[in-house]
Amino acid sequence: MIVIIPFWMHDRLEEEKVGERESFCPTCDRPVTFSVVRMRRKRMLFSVINVSTRDLGTFLVCPSCGGTYPARE
Ligand SMILES: [Zn+2]
Repeated sequence: MIVIIPFWMHDRLEEEKVGERESFCPTCDRPVTFSVVRMRRKRMLFSVINVSTRDLGTFLVCPSCGGTYPARE
């Protein structure tokens, strides 16, 4: 599926660090302290007006390899 976004509209990904969690990283193959990051996608009009915000959920970001994994609550 192709989604065409007009040039005056663009999506901005917002990350907010909400904490840290010890977990096992499958890429690094060792336990690491993940950053717990909450992600939201904001659709902006002319870069200033927020048209819509979609909550993408909480993710664990590995500080070592940069891998992002969905957080299981
Ligand atoms: Zn890793």
